[in-house]
Parts: sequence; C-alpha cells; structure tokens
Amino acid sequence: AAASQLRRVLESQLEDIRGSGTWKNERVIASRQGILNFCANNYLGLSSHPEVIQASVEALEKFGAGLSSVRFICGTQSIHKDLEEKIARFHQREDAILYASCFDANAGIFEALLTPEDAVLSDELNHASIIDGIRLCKANKYRYKHMDMEDLEAKLQDAQKHRLRLVATDGAFSMDGDIAPLREICQLAQKYDALVFIDECHATGFLGPNGRGTDELLGVMDKVTIINSTLGKALGGAAGGYTTGPKPLIDLLRQRSRPYLFSNSLPPAVVGCASKALHLLMESNAIAQSMAAKTQRFRSKMTAAGFTISGKDHPICPVMLGDARLAAVMAEDMLNRGIYVIGFSYPVVPKGKARIRVQISAVHSDEDIDRCVEAFTEVGRKHGALP
Ligand code: PLP
Repeated sequence: AAASQLRRVLESQLEDIRGSGTWKNERVIASRQGILNFCANNYLGLSSHPEVIQASVEALEKFGAGLSSVRFICGTQSIHKDLEEKIARFHQREDAILYASCFDANAGIFEALLTPEDAVLSDELNHASIIDGIRLCKANKYRYKHMDMEDLEAKLQDAQKHRLRLVATDGAFSMDGDIAPLREICQLAQKYDALVFIDECHATGFLGPNGRGTDELLGVMDKVTIINSTLGKALGGAAGGYTTGPKPLIDLLRQRSRPYLFSNSLPPAVVGCASKALHLLMESNAIAQSMAAKTQRFRSKMTAAGFTISGKDHPICPVMLGDARLAAVMAEDMLNRGIYVIGFSYPVVPKGKARIRVQISAVHSDEDIDRCVEAFTEVGRKHGALP
C-alpha cells in the first residue's frame, strides 16, 4: 500500500509540473559540444580544445580511471596536488582544495567554517548550492535583498554582535547575467569587519583582464577572502569544484568538510583536463579576452531587434519572455532553425519571469551570433514576443 501511495503522490506532483508548463525535458546529444550550441557554460570553448582533450587522455592512461577512494585514504595523486597548487596560483591565493563539484564546495564550506557564534549574510538570489550550504551551518543567517547595499549594510550592523561575519555572494548571477557590486561589498565588509566569499562559477576564466574573475574585473583581488568555483564550466567543462583562500581555511576544510571527507577523489581524466585549461589561461590572456566583443555583438543586436536582455556585459544573456510556455515553444522553434537554446522557468527562475538564457562562447563566430539573432527575430515575431 505504501508503494502505491507513493506512486500516486509522485504522479500528482509530476502532473502539476506538466500542467504549469515548467516540465524540463533532457535532450540527448550524440556528439561533443557543437558550435551552434547557445546554452552551454563552455564560455571559452575549452571543452573541445584539442590540447585539453589530449591532456585528459594522457592523465587517464598514466593515472588510471579513478581512485576508488576519498582523498585522505588513498585518493591523493600528484596530479591532485599539482592542480590545487595551480588553482591557488591562478587566483593568487595561498592554497586550494578540490571537490567533486562546486555544489559540494558550497555544501561543505559554511558548516566547516562558521559556528553559532558567527553570522553569514547571503544575497537572496545566490545559487541553490550556496543556499543549501548555508542551511547546513549553524551560524546566524541574514538574507539581504539582491545586490542591495543599503540592506546589506543594515544587516551588517545587526551582525556586529557576532564573532565572524561572512558576506556570501555569487560573483556573477547565473540566471540574470548581472555582476555583484564587489567594490561596494568589500567597502562595507571593511567598514563592518566582515569577510567576503564569492562563488565564481560564471566568472572564472573569462571575467577581468586575465580571466581571474569578478574580483579581478572590479579590482578587489586582495579584498575577497574566499573563492569557490567550478572546473565544470569555462575551465574545460568536465566536472569538479574548489575552494581557494587562506591556508588555515584550506587545512581546516581537509579535516572537516563533509563533501570532501566522504566523497571520491576527482578522476584523473577530469584533473588532466582542468589542469591543461588553467595552463592555457596562465600562458596568455588571449583566450580569456576572446569573448567580450562577441557578447557585446549579441546583446546590442538583440536589443535593437526589440528584445529585453537582462544583465550587463556578461556572456549570460537572458532573453526575458515572462511566460513559461512561450519560452518553451520559442526554444523548440529555435532548435528547428539549428540554434540550441533552452527556456528557463519556475523553479529555476521566479514564476512569471521565464526566459531563454543564451550563453555566448568564444567558439561562436560573428556569423553564428548573427544567425542566432535572426532566428530569434523570426521566432519572436511568429509567437508574438515581438511586434
Ligand atoms: N554555483 C553556481 C553559481 C553555479 O552556477 C553552479 C552550477 O550550475 C554551481 C555553483 C555548481 O557547480 P558544479 O556544476 O561544479 O557543481
């Protein structure tokens, strides 16, 4: 009886999701990321870079398929230590620690770092993994309005009674393509003696003159204490995440962070690919710089065509449509025209704010971008999103 009741409960929830137009189909792709893919986080095109793929193959052959172990048992190879050292050097921080994903890095840091004596102040639109990580910790929790410095200041004042204060924000917000006002956040942090944590998943590798991220872009590399980021987006796109920051913090995470202590080491092939991606970025800033003009081209042409594009100067270009079904049917029609984009709706974005999130990559040519804008214009007219 319990099993059939469960089935009924689940089916009714699934029916609600279908009924509200927010059902997410997973499309099966039979090749590597192609160039008319406008919905990957493959910002720099490194997931199909021949040197990145080769490095991954070599690591697989030399170090095997995997460690069948967590790091502290028998899961640490020289390539893991090398990659951690490289990540710290890339971000100009003291040390770094690898995780299976940035979701894990976010799930593991707050509980290990903060106690009931401390406070964490979090932007209301932070990524789900930051929200979950904060849920797991016992610190006093403050949620400030999205990028609202007055609200953050008020909450920092209230948080003065606690031992440590940690402001946590996405560097770049993945649903809206907007960039956190890090200069102002760091000024407030200085005024109220707080630490700053940023999630750089949508910034590492391509924001700032050398692709170091939002802190480099906004000139506050020496003021942000802790960075979490992913190896699964611009840095080769395979998988993996990390924390980089002060050495005692990294030492503590190795002792206390649960997703690190109780989950398998990163597979060598994944380590090899991320390590090569970082190497390429540290050799020259040409790759990091390769997409700003393309982002600008897409944003200005789409705006001229009559669309509303959220955010600013970021390769995440959300085409705001409002209605979940409209976003889904337009995305389907774009695919019929050879442009792969996806509609985003509740619960990934708030109700009534459905959109198609376009992501520009360095591998898109100007012609690809123009084709994408033309297709949007046709499809938008057909479905009434444009006059
Ligand atoms: N943080 C942000 C802002 C993200 O966008 C994502 C991925 O969607 C994550 C964390 C999780 O990263 P990973 O895929 O490495 O778990």
